[in-house]
Order: sequence, then structure tokens, then C-alpha cells
Amino acid sequence: ILDVQHIEKSFGATKVLKDINFSLPEGQVLAIIGSSGSGKTTLLRCLNFLETPDKGSISVRGETLFDAGDPATQRESEIRRKRLHFGLVFQNFNLFPQYTALENVTLARELMAKGEKTGESLEDIRAEGRDLLTQMGLQDRMGNYPHQLSGGQQQRVAIARALAMKPDILCFDEPTSALDPELTGEVLKVIRSLADQHTTMIIVTHEMSFARDVADHVLFMDGGVVVEEGTPEEVFGHPQQARTRQFLEKYK
Ligand code: ATP
Repeated sequence: ILDVQHIEKSFGATKVLKDINFSLPEGQVLAIIGSSGSGKTTLLRCLNFLETPDKGSISVRGETLFDAGDPATQRESEIRRKRLHFGLVFQNFNLFPQYTALENVTLARELMAKGEKTGESLEDIRAEGRDLLTQMGLQDRMGNYPHQLSGGQQQRVAIARALAMKPDILCFDEPTSALDPELTGEVLKVIRSLADQHTTMIIVTHEMSFARDVADHVLFMDGGVVVEEGTPEEVFGHPQQARTRQFLEKYK
């Protein structure tokens, strides 16, 4: 479903991504691991058009969404539509504080229905929002504002909000790193159940046992390159590269 070819990105003189290549089949989960500063967040931001790669291309379902060599793929007017292929869940939830849980989930869809006349009724959008929040175990929290929710609950609202846009690929940037250990489990459980339903996902995480458990494929990044990749069993069980072994040693 996703094909990433030769992505490079520099900030000033610092090359943060160096020739990143990978593909992701529909319904699979890709975990990206690596130490701080290895370029994981920048890679996710490139996929979501929050950064523009200097080189390379990104395709979804065979459509070239971005090609550094082809300005026609970089038109501002189309970026919003292209971004809809990806849902993004951030470290710090980024909910709108002035809206309830349900409004956070439905707002973007409601605006689209009004602006682009998608023909969807507000009632349908809200019913779907309620279903998603129920799926996240938040049926009793729909009318709460973010400050009335725990971090784990806020993150589950953020996941429902991303799913409401029906992305092809759901991306998580360290979804539990801002959470206390006792709240981490409830968020990981939700992501696990999405994986069981064959949601296509990219998960940047420091939770190694979770990555091992949930991922179909693992990329280990270091210094802006993919140092090693493979099945969880290969990368975690039998790492071939010294750098991978060194990195994993810290999590033992
Ligand atoms: P972390 O686990 O801490 O989030 P990461 O692997 O996600 O790390 P990135 O956030 O992608 O790493 O950052 C990679 C490098 O790029 C870092 O050295 C960072 O300082 C640098 N960087 C990221 N964004 C910018 C920016 N907008 N301008 C300049 N440098 C940046």
C-alpha cells in the first residue's frame, strides 16, 4: 500500500535522513525503532507532508503522492487531500482543548462535509464518532473536555480522531512516551486491537516488547539510515548488526 523510495532530508548542513527505502503491505504493522535523534520523527513528518523531503518519492496504492524530482506532485492545493492518506497520532495527543472528546473526533469530518459538500449528514458523522469512541472504551467520556481526561484517555481520543478520517495508514509517533506506565498499557491495548483488525500502521516506539509483539516488520534507524530491518524475530531475536545489538542491549 505504501512505497517509500530514496528519501533524503537535511536541516541546514545536517543530513537527518539518508536514502530511506521501505514498503508496507496493506493490513500490516511496521515498527520503527532507534535512539533519540536517529530521524524517526522526521521520517513520519515527511510521510505526512509536514516536511518536504529533498530527494525521493512516496507512493500510496500506486499513486505517486510525492516525488522530489516532479514539481507537479508538490502542489500546495493538493497537499491537504494527499495528507488524508495518513492519520497521525502524536506523543502529546494535541487535542483541541475547547472541544469535547466527541467534537475532537468529528470536527474535521464535519468541516469537510460542510466545505466540500461530501453529502454526509452531521448525524451520521457523529454516530460514527460515538462508535469510534466506544471502540476505544470511552463510551462514558464523550462529553468530557481534554482536561477532564487522563493522558491515556486523551490519547485514545486522539486515535479515534485519526481513525475518523479513514486514513489508509495510521502513523503513531511514540504514542505512549508522555504517559505514566499504568496508562501506557491501555493505549497499547487499543493499538494491539487495531492491529488484530488489520489496520495498516506505522509505529515509532521505544516500547520494545510491544514492537516485537505487534509488528509484522521492524526498521532499526540510526544516524538517519535504516541500519537493519526484518521480522521482529530477526531484528530482536537475531540482530545482525553490531549497532542494533548495542541499541537493544539498553532495553534488556
Ligand atoms: P526522538 O526519539 O527524540 O523523537 P527522532 O529519531 O525522532 O528522535 P528526529 O526528531 O527525527 O529524531 O530528529 C533527527 C535530527 O534532526 C535531530 O538531530 C534533530 O535535532 C534534527 N531536527 C529535527 N527537526 C529539525 C528542524 N526542524 N530543524 C533543524 N533540525 C531538526
